Amino acid sequence: MPTQRDDCLFCGIVRDGTYVNQTKGFIAINDINPQAPVHLLVIPEHHVDSFREIGEFSARESKHLLEFIADTARSVGLTDYKVQVNVGPTAGQTVFHLHWHVLGEGGAASKTDAMATAVSEL
Ligand code: 5GP
Ligand code: ZN
Repeated sequence: MPTQRDDCLFCGIVRDGTYVNQTKGFIAINDINPQAPVHLLVIPEHHVDSFREIGEFSARESKHLLEFIADTARSVGLTDYKVQVNVGPTAGQTVFHLHWHVLGEGGAASKTDAMATAVSEL
């Protein structure tokens, strides 16, 4: 079983079970305060405070995580996007359970919306 903390917001979200995407050991959710049209958070089920503790994951888990980030972006229709980790408060980390931000301008749905707008403006 992954290590969980009762007082941790993201451990609670892991336990809630409502995800955009899921794989063994990792989940993806929508950010509650998106900084881009698509803003996902990829979160390990195992609690570590920050990226500084990445060594607690095996090489296999780390590879699986990186593939899951790419799969999750693809699954919401993103081809171009940013992947970001804030490490420590002065670098912008506000939730102390390791997570990756996936930020993109829009997936399949927003492309369809943009095309609909463009067509309606013809
Ligand atoms: P950080 O600032 O630690 O790199 O990122 C934390 C992120 O978690 C922020 O982008 C913030 O909007 C998001 N966040 C904070 N609380 C919640 C929550 O309760 N639910 C979700 N889905 N995202 C949250
Ligand atoms: Zn946690």
